[in-house]
Amino acid sequence: MDYLILPVTPLVQNCTILWDPATRQAAVVDPGGDVDAILDAIKANNLKVEKLLLTHGHIDHVGGTAALAARLGAPAACVEGPQREDAFWLEQLTEQCRMFGFPPTPTLTPDRWLEDGDTVTVGGLTLDVLHTPGHTPGHICFIHKPSKLAIVGDVLFAGSIGRTDFPLGNPTALIRSIREKLFPLGDDFVFIPGHGPTSTFGEERRSNPYAGDQV
Ligand SMILES: [Zn+2]
Repeated sequence: MDYLILPVTPLVQNCTILWDPATRQAAVVDPGGDVDAILDAIKANNLKVEKLLLTHGHIDHVGGTAALAARLGAPAACVEGPQREDAFWLEQLTEQCRMFGFPPTPTLTPDRWLEDGDTVTVGGLTLDVLHTPGHTPGHICFIHKPSKLAIVGDVLFAGSIGRTDFPLGNPTALIRSIREKLFPLGDDFVFIPGHGPTSTFGEERRSNPYAGDQV
């Protein structure tokens, strides 16, 4: 699997473009905005986007989804994720846009909601889906086991964890998601968070002041 990270929107959200190098079939994870920049990266790498994958329903992660799907044209890219409990966030995109000063975007309904244990294919690649509530109730993570890479949205950051002060945020659930779903994947897993630099689960177990082993 190849990938690149493209920080998008004024909230500098890590949109990840990943692809199967054999077929150049690709997925865009969390296309929050800056659709021109995403399209430029797709073109520069000669990719065919077949999936738009969403970790959770916050505007900086999903705001560019409809525009990107429209501009990619046919065949239509399939929108997959998040887990169904984030439907209320996707239904409030208009309010989220107003609140965070994003360009207006219509309500979004994914082609496929994802559940814990589901898999998502991109070309010849298979990603595993983990349901990781806490930051939002329907938050999911995408795991590529062969390359030991996890895309974790706003669950875990290098040196920090996701906010839980939004509606239906749950600090206990968030810590459980990190410790019982993510860390068991292995210390050598690299993760791409929704904001900021990448890290490894081992480094966060050692030093994360909110979710590390010493807390
Ligand atoms: Zn978020």
